[in-house]
Amino acid sequence: MPRLLPYFWILLSITLCFAGCGRDESRDDEAANTVSDFEVKTSPSGSQSAKVFDKSLLKTQNFFAMGTMVQVTTYDAPAEKHTAAVRDIEQLFLHFYRTWQPWEKTAEPLGQLALINQDLLAGRSSGSNRKFNQLVLEATELSKTSRGLFNPAIGELVKLWGFNRDSDLPKNAPETSAIQTILSRNPGMHQLRYTANSIQSVQPLALDFGGFIKGYAVDRAIDILRDYGIESALVNAGGDLRAIGKKANIPWAVGVLDPRRGQQFLAQLQVQPGEAIFTSGDYERYFEQEIEDLTQPLNAGGDQPKFAKKQQRYHHIIDPRTGYPATKTASVTVITANGAQADAAATALFVAGPGKWETVAISMGVKYVMMVDVEGNVYLNPAMANRIRLSDPKGAVKLSVPLTIPQ
Ligand code: AMP
Ligand code: MG
Repeated sequence: MPRLLPYFWILLSITLCFAGCGRDESRDDEAANTVSDFEVKTSPSGSQSAKVFDKSLLKTQNFFAMGTMVQVTTYDAPAEKHTAAVRDIEQLFLHFYRTWQPWEKTAEPLGQLALINQDLLAGRSSGSNRKFNQLVLEATELSKTSRGLFNPAIGELVKLWGFNRDSDLPKNAPETSAIQTILSRNPGMHQLRYTANSIQSVQPLALDFGGFIKGYAVDRAIDILRDYGIESALVNAGGDLRAIGKKANIPWAVGVLDPRRGQQFLAQLQVQPGEAIFTSGDYERYFEQEIEDLTQPLNAGGDQPKFAKKQQRYHHIIDPRTGYPATKTASVTVITANGAQADAAATALFVAGPGKWETVAISMGVKYVMMVDVEGNVYLNPAMANRIRLSDPKGAVKLSVPLTIPQ
């Protein structure tokens, strides 16, 4: 068990976990310095007016959807409202999964996006509707502000790499020529033309909303909870999450996993009401392949140049400029005011990488960022540094310039 695992936390996924779901795990006093219901004891106990956190008012339910475990936790909600809201949220996630699946699935009828992708690839006009257009519009705006680094029009590249499949991971990188063929069509949201009920692409392409649909779904889940009158809740979709309200007098709290240390936390922070926290990481879906290390020549004098071999990690976050997985980042965590923006921004900043993410964060309006590079160095903007608690980072901790938002 990782040393930092607080007894009160339930690990939901490979990226993040949250505290406060109410299960009493085995007590580990070593972990008492972490954020958990431990805080209850440190909250002002004499205060008569403030409501004090009561663990028995937490309710948690899990379900599996969109390839991940989703956990909904409410605080102080009536049981029937909690149950009904979770049922609706589960339906929504399952519906989203069917609708926004970019490619056909065996034994399932084609969903809306898979059908539209068939037409976009064939250069045909496809039927769309208001909801679809709304999603496309939102994705286009996020793509623009990310300067094209979040690019949901690279569905063909994701498929070529084999990261579109839920289960088995690919074993080999695709041929460079196949990547180049797709890149030569300049896939981007700017290729799309649409009316109220149709959509077409100037160049053949396929859409893949995998980089932000989870955030979009988490936002809709929060809408559902609010519609039921639930004021305090946390929706955690495989470690990407959004909270509303607080647990009485204490905020929801989360831990961020270290991208290279399995289930061990690198950081902890509190989620303010309404905030979304999303992480993109190169450890979520990846394979390794032995390749030649062109920086390590072996036989200076030989006919055929020979190089040392190295293991190359290929993961699911593609740099739309090269067609290859981004190479310098291990993980990015962002906090923003909604899930769709947080999800897209985490993907975009991951691609931007060290030294470049600040500009993209500013243009996407992101105020809190933590990035870990492949060497283990941690980059924080000052506002994030003020609210995050790091645990034993492997590399250096580097403070960026403030992310001032242009007026
Ligand atoms: P995330 O885990 O949110 O960073 O999203 C990764 C998923 O988004 C991948 O599995 C792809 O489906 C898709 N994707 C990969 N690279 C990009 C990119 N540069 N822009 C938009 N979506 C991407
Ligand atoms: Mg994302």
